[in-house]
Order: sequence, then structure tokens, then C-alpha cells
Amino acid sequence: MPSLNDIRSTYLDFFKRNGHTVVDSSPLVPRNDPTLMFTNSGMVQFKNCFTGVETRDYKRATTAQKCVRAGGKHNDLDNVGYTARHHTFFEMLGNFSFGDYFKAEAIAFAWELLTRDFDIPKDKLLVTVYHTDDEAAALWKKVAGLGDDRIIRIPTSDNFWQMGPTGPCGPCTEIFFDHGDHIWGGPPGSADEDGDRYIEIWNNVFMQNEQFEDGSMIDLDMQSIDTGMGLERIGALLQGKHDNYDTDLMRSLIEASAHLTSNDPDGPGKVHHRVVADHLRSTSFLIADGVMPSNDGRGYVLRRIMRRAMRHLNMLGTQDVTMYKLVPALVRQMGTAYPELAQAQSLIEETLRLEETRFRTTLDRGLKLLDEELSGLPEGADLPGPAAFKLYDTYGFPLDLTQDALREKGRAVDVAGFDAAMEEQRAKARASWSGTGEAKDAKIWFELAEKHGATEFLGYDGEIAEGQIL
Ligand code: ATP
Ligand code: MG
Ligand code: MG
Ligand code: MG
Repeated sequence: MPSLNDIRSTYLDFFKRNGHTVVDSSPLVPRNDPTLMFTNSGMVQFKNCFTGVETRDYKRATTAQKCVRAGGKHNDLDNVGYTARHHTFFEMLGNFSFGDYFKAEAIAFAWELLTRDFDIPKDKLLVTVYHTDDEAAALWKKVAGLGDDRIIRIPTSDNFWQMGPTGPCGPCTEIFFDHGDHIWGGPPGSADEDGDRYIEIWNNVFMQNEQFEDGSMIDLDMQSIDTGMGLERIGALLQGKHDNYDTDLMRSLIEASAHLTSNDPDGPGKVHHRVVADHLRSTSFLIADGVMPSNDGRGYVLRRIMRRAMRHLNMLGTQDVTMYKLVPALVRQMGTAYPELAQAQSLIEETLRLEETRFRTTLDRGLKLLDEELSGLPEGADLPGPAAFKLYDTYGFPLDLTQDALREKGRAVDVAGFDAAMEEQRAKARASWSGTGEAKDAKIWFELAEKHGATEFLGYDGEIAEGQIL
């Protein structure tokens, strides 16, 4: 059975054999791209190659790209632990053509790799195309011999791929694998397409447009190809599993979590282990790429993911600072393919250890407060905004951590109420601020405070709390 490390190599070797240059993954923090929080797909590092702004000494490239989808246009944070196919951190395998080959070759490469090198049974595969793309539909018929019932035309943005609000984009064709009727879910485009029976494994984008901020879209001079296949998804399939979290790599992390917390990996704490395994990867790779926990921007997303994982570890019964102890298991699995991870190991461990030490001082009390609040509410009622705000402000619970905790109980937060409480506190802080008395200074100070997050979270008991403006 091929490991994820084997599958990554098979993919890169296949495209190398077919004239592609193997290019390293770019960092998770996109360089010079303020429109994007984290690298969310393989094409990010090649964005300017599609628009013709940049040329390289190759026209075909292939990569295994580190991706994080925990914010912005593509955000899978809330799916983690609950679907079989989503991670916040995953690896996207891709092949790219910059004005070189186009639809026909891309479809032929995809079909050959899947059905010959990976030996996937043809009758388990089906594809989607953008509803107006007759050319792609005809190619699938010709190259793969697929019948019309297995070439599904989709009119929505699912088959028109965009990295973010602006940038190169285009119609796409996606390849799905049918895991069988013992799993709930319908084919793409059907009412129950959100189920996990038909899993999208590979997206092939026909890059031919560029979207601008004012809403206009142009045809690009070049016709290019950008593809993305989730390594964990193809891995599950090739290992005879349905669930990404049952692949060798993810399973070893789940087992490490189970071992460390003296729990059964498949027992009642199963969801917690899945979340921990996923968040361990995203936080470690983000730290290795230079993101540090903070109170705004990228650093706050990192803090949110870390604290979420720490709450799940707490739910598994750990009383000690724990998460950093899982880092060696991750480095063992992925440190060879991504040497930056191994190099940053002690930085990652220390960052996780400090963050958890800090968060643990308020976590138990926050969870207790949450339970008290809930017990005083009518059955099924939303947690009121002020309570969620208190958890945020005094106990360092990011809003999504509270939402995540409530989800397990079938409850939600009154988000409008939370926002109102936040705004009220800001207004109060503004009103009581004395400073130099100069209105101009005050304005600058508040702008800075809002931009950078006012303070560091130092804990409970009269110290300065997270997000608090003095
Ligand atoms: P889905 O519809 O399942 O959420 P997507 O359409 O958002 O996937 P794309 O943006 O087309 O995904 O990304 C290309 C490929 O990357 C997908 O076909 C899938 O194999 C993989 N992928 C996307 N999101 C994730 C994720 N959160 N975790 C793991 N793999 C992913
Ligand atoms: Mg998605
Ligand atoms: Mg999709
Ligand atoms: Mg897709």
C-alpha cells in the first residue's frame, strides 16, 4: 500500500517525466500579496505567470504545495473533524502550464495518471464541467470514454475557480470518486452533494480570465492550466479508505494524540483526536513559515487554531501543557519532505508550550463559565453576545472556539450580540481615554490599536486581557 510520501513522489515523477519542472512548495505566507491571508492552493506562487507579468525559464511546472484554508474565500476550519475530506492544512499536488498545453493535454494527463499509474477503476470516476464548456465535455468523452451521465454540467462557481476576490481565474473540470452507496451523499450538483459519498479529488482549472477589484473580468492573452489534487484525498482512496483521517500519515498523528492523552483513538474522543491531528499540522507549518500567535491578522488566525486544539486536548482529559509533545510525531512524518519543519522544531515546540501555558490559566474557568451560562438558558437557546464577549475578553476564548464548543451541544452564539458588545467596549474605551488630550493623537492611537490588536493577553485577575483597549 503506497504511503502519502510515496504518492507525492509518484505524482511529481509522472509530471517530471512529462516535461514539467519540479518546483518547491512556496511558504504559507504569500510573498507580496496582501489580498491573501495564507497560501490556499498551488497556483498562488505562479499567480503572475498566468497573467504574463512574470516569465520563468520553464513553461510546465509541478509542485506539492503546502496549503492552509482557515480564513478568507476558502475557509474549512469549521469542517475539520466533521467531514471525511477537509483539513485546515493539506498538501495540494499540482501541474501547471503557462501558455503551453491546454485542455486536451491536461485532461489526457489526468486520466492517464489516475487510471494507469494509480490504477483507479474507471467506473468509479465521474467528472464535472462548467455548464457552457462543451469542449471539455467532448474531451472527456473522447479521452476517457465517459458517458453523458458521468459528465455533469455545473452552472455555479464550484466550476469557475478563483483564488480570492481578484486575480487569474477560469472555468474548471473536477474529478470525483464514488466511494459507494454505503456512504451518504449525492453526485455533484444534486441536492445532497454535501455528503461524503462522492469525493472531489482533483480540480483542473482552465486559466483564461483575470478578475479585477471593480468587478470586471478580462480574457487573458495566454491559455494556461492550473490543477490541484488533495494528497490526503487521493491517499485515502489509494489506501482503500474513505476518510482522509484514516490515511497512514493522519492516522499516526491521531494515534500520537490518543497515546499522549491515554485515550482510545476511535472512542468517544474521536472527533477531538481528528481536530488535534489537523490543527497540529496547520499550527506547526505556520510557525515554521514565520507566523507567530498574536491578536490580529495572520497571527490571530494561528492563535485561534492553536487554542481550539488546546481546548480539544483539554476535552480529552489532559490537565498539563500537552500539545507541544506531539510535534516530534509530526516531524517524523513530514520533516523529510519539508525540511523547514524539522529545522523549526524547537521554535514550534516552544511557541506551543508558551501559548498553552498561558491559555491554561483561564481555560478551565472559561469552560466553567460557559457551562453556567448554558444551564441558565432555555433549551437550545443561543449563547447571548455579552457572555461570548466575556469569554473572549476575560478568558481569551476566540469567538470561533466558543462556537466550536457550542456546536458539540447543538447550540450557537448570538454573533450580532457579540459584535455589539465588542463595539460597546471600544466606544467606552474611546470615551475614557485621556492621552495628551489632543484629538489627533487619540485618533492615531486608536487606529493603531485596532490595526495591531491593542494588547497581548496576559491572563485573568486584573491583568490586561486579550483584545482589551486600555
Ligand atoms: P471541496 O468542494 O471538497 O471543499 P474545493 O472545491 O473547495 O473542495 P479546490 O479549491 O477545487 O477544492 O481545491 C483543489 C483540490 O484540493 C480539491 O479537489 C481537493 O482534492 C483538495 N482540497 C481542497 N480543500 C481541501 C481541504 N480543506 N482539505 C483537504 N483537501 C482539500
Ligand atoms: Mg472547499
Ligand atoms: Mg468543490
Ligand atoms: Mg474544487
